[in-house]
Amino acid sequence: MSRPTTRIAPSPTGALHLGNARTFLVNWAMARQSGWKIVYRIEDLDTPRVKPGAIGQTTEILTWLGIDWDEQAPLQSENTKPYQQAMEMLAEQSMVYPCTLSRKEIAEAAGAPHAGEHEPRFDPILRPAEIPRSFTEAATNWRFITPETTVSFDDRFAGPISRNPAHTVGDFIVWTQRSQPAYQLAVVIDDHRQGITEVVRGDDLIDSAARQLLLYRALNLAPEPTYTHLPLVRGTDGRRLAKRHGDTRLAHYKDRGVPPERIIALLARWSGIRNAGDFLTAKDFANRFRLDTMPRGDLTFTPEDDQWLIEGGSR
Ligand code: GLU
Repeated sequence: MSRPTTRIAPSPTGALHLGNARTFLVNWAMARQSGWKIVYRIEDLDTPRVKPGAIGQTTEILTWLGIDWDEQAPLQSENTKPYQQAMEMLAEQSMVYPCTLSRKEIAEAAGAPHAGEHEPRFDPILRPAEIPRSFTEAATNWRFITPETTVSFDDRFAGPISRNPAHTVGDFIVWTQRSQPAYQLAVVIDDHRQGITEVVRGDDLIDSAARQLLLYRALNLAPEPTYTHLPLVRGTDGRRLAKRHGDTRLAHYKDRGVPPERIIALLARWSGIRNAGDFLTAKDFANRFRLDTMPRGDLTFTPEDDQWLIEGGSR
């Protein structure tokens, strides 16, 4: 059997904050404990949101924290051929179609959105009468014909999960009107071609995992990865960590002289490591982290945590 492989896959759409850092550190620690290979993959396909300079900064800050990897994947944007080939395969099976409907039109067909949903469900009645048998790139979105199936998987952290994407999102976008693969397709193709067997990430992507498994099956790709979805870090208002909670970028703490060991000590506390102390190296984190003692609920970043980090800058 080939070596289990995971990936650290930041999107260079903003600076790394404490929430992303916690997920990447846990991913890295699990890999180093279990001897998994780590592929570093920058997900730069979300072009309009990719910030200039963010790729270099992300890599620099992860290295500063003590995270390393065994292999670096080429940038996604460097070779989009494998994604096009996947679209051709899906089109040959009449599983995808171009769609020019606006958000408003889709929302009207879907009725009232469910609480917490970002996107209205794409109702199958909106599918075109004719589904093409070939993929032609044009400035339109392409959607996947989501089958009526419940997808189940055993998450290493979240436990048994079952989702029916046909009921939640409906036909989702796999190719965008910017002539690029959408995240759901890109991640499946990349994970497959990079031999990824272990996916560790935030649990905001748990619903996406079901969509991704549908694509694995439609494209006949194996093996399907094992998932570990971790609870998100939130602010005291319960919303996921973002700019509104102050400057939680790692670069901000670094600029203020906070050493990486101070940040790791906070991430360790959030990850269920007892008596993490005031300073901890990434290596010590990897030695002491255990997935089964990781807190089960969401984690909260408080103003006291911010203060505690800053105080650590004057060691
Ligand atoms: N690039 C995504 C992120 O930074 C991760 C996607 C994934 O792990 O599947 O949130």
